[in-house]
Amino acid sequence: MPKRLLLAVADPAVAAQAADEIFSPAGYSVTQVHDIAALRASLRRGKLPDLIFIGNPLPGGDAFKLVADLKAEYPTLPIIMLAKKATTGDLLRSMQAGLVDYIGLPLEREAALSAARRGMEQKKLWEGWLKRETGRITGSLNQRLSEMEAILRQVNDGVLVVDKANRILMVNQALRQTFGLGDADFTGMSIEQAVANPTLVEALKADGDRHEVQNKAGRVFHVRVSRIPEVGTVASLHDISYLKELDRLKGDFVNTVSHDLRSPLTAILGYVELIERAGKVNSQQSEFINRVKSSVYATTTLIDDLLKLGRVEVGALDEVTPVNMKLIVVNALAAFQPQAQEKGQTLRLRKTGDLPAVLGSRTQLSQMVDNLIGNAVKYTPPGGQIRVMLREEQNQLILHVADNGPGIPLEEQGRIFERFYRASNAPSGVSGTGLGLAIVKTIVDNHRGRIWVDSKAGGGAVFTVVLPVAKEK
Ligand code: ADP
Repeated sequence: MPKRLLLAVADPAVAAQAADEIFSPAGYSVTQVHDIAALRASLRRGKLPDLIFIGNPLPGGDAFKLVADLKAEYPTLPIIMLAKKATTGDLLRSMQAGLVDYIGLPLEREAALSAARRGMEQKKLWEGWLKRETGRITGSLNQRLSEMEAILRQVNDGVLVVDKANRILMVNQALRQTFGLGDADFTGMSIEQAVANPTLVEALKADGDRHEVQNKAGRVFHVRVSRIPEVGTVASLHDISYLKELDRLKGDFVNTVSHDLRSPLTAILGYVELIERAGKVNSQQSEFINRVKSSVYATTTLIDDLLKLGRVEVGALDEVTPVNMKLIVVNALAAFQPQAQEKGQTLRLRKTGDLPAVLGSRTQLSQMVDNLIGNAVKYTPPGGQIRVMLREEQNQLILHVADNGPGIPLEEQGRIFERFYRASNAPSGVSGTGLGLAIVKTIVDNHRGRIWVDSKAGGGAVFTVVLPVAKEK
C-alpha cells in the first residue's frame, strides 16, 4: 500500500513539482492543498495521512499554531515543515512543537525523502508504543472487570442487574440457583422473559426496598433495589427464611403462652365472681375482690392485645378483599358513641362523598380504626371533641382522627408506636397496655400505608393514616 502524504504548500506550482518529481516516484500517494482551511478539510474528510509536509508561511493562519493544534489532535502524526527561510527562532519553535524536521525551500530531493523516511519511522515507533500502552491499560482493566464479575458471581446473595429498559445485564450464580435458571445466557433479555417470578419483576420496577420474594422451594428473600444512574437497576436478594421461621416460632410461642394464661384467668374471674354469690362478704373482703377483679381484667386485656399483635404480625394479610373504609369508620363511630356520650364528648365523622375501596383485611382495618378512635375517646377528657375525617388524594385514602385531649410531647411521638410504650403525659388513671398503637402500626405496614401523629403537649393529637387505594382492574 502506498504511503499517504499530505502536502500543504502555498504555491501550487511548487507543490505539483515536489509531488511529481520527488514524492510520487518514491512511492508516496500525495494529496496537495494550498492553505490551512483546505488542509483541515482534507483531514476531516478522509483517512488520516501517514505524514504531512507543511509550508511556512501557509495562507489562513500561523503555521506553528497549526502544528500545535494538529499535534494536540493527532499526537502520532509526523509533521515536517518546509520554510522559505529558516531562522534560529523558527528552528527552536519547530523543536518545541515536536516537528520531525524543518527543511528549507527550494526542496531538495534527498533532504525531502530522508525527512519523510524519518517521519515514517517515528510514526511506527509512536504507534507501537501506543499499542503496547493501550494493551497494558485494557489488560489491567479487563482483569479488574473479571475480578469484579467473579466477586459478584460468588457472593451468596442473589444479584441481578438490568439496564434502564429492564433488560438483563448480569445474573449471578446465587440468583440462578434461587430461581432454577440453569446456565443460559440471559444478557439482553427482558426480566419478564428471564425470571418467571412476577413479584421479583414488580419489585425491580417499583420504588422502595420493602419487597419480599418467595421461590418455588418456599424460601423467602428480602429484595433490595438500587437505581444506578446511567446504568439501570441492581436488585440483591438476601435469604431471610430463617428470620421468617423465627418470627413464626415467636408468634406460635406468644399465642400458646397467651392461650394457656388466658384460661386460668377466666377461671379466676369466674370463681371471684362466685364468692359474692356464695355468701355475704364484708366491705374489706369486697374491696379485695374488686382489686383481684381489676388485676385480672388488666392482665386479660394485656393477653388479648398480645394475641392481637401476634395475629396481625404473623398473619400479615390472610383475607384480602376490597374494603369500604367509610363503612368501617361509621361502624366504629357507632360502637364508641355510648362511651363518648358518657364522657360528654362529641364524636363525629366529617361528611364525605363516595370513596374508593382499600385492598386489605377487613378485620385488621376495623381493628386499626377502633384502636385510634378508642384512644381518642380514652385520652380526651370529658366534654372534649373528637373529629374523624376520610378523604381521597392521588390514589390514596387518608384517615384523620383528631382530638383536643392532652396531646403527646414531641420527643415521645416517635416512640408511641413501639410495643409497651406509654407517653409520659397520659392522664393518670387511664389504663392501657401500650400495645394498641403497635398493633395499629403493624396493620398499616401490612397494607403498605403510612401513619404519623401531629401533636403538641396540651394541644390535642391528630393521627393520620395514608393507605393506597385498590387499583381498578
Ligand atoms: P395504650 O393506650 O394502651 O397505652 P397505645 O399503644 O394505644 O397504648 O398508645 C401508646 C401511648 O400513646 C399511650 O399510652 C398514650 O400515652 C399515647 N396516646 C395514644 N393515643 C393518644 C391520644 N389520642 N392522645 C394522647 N395520647 C395518646
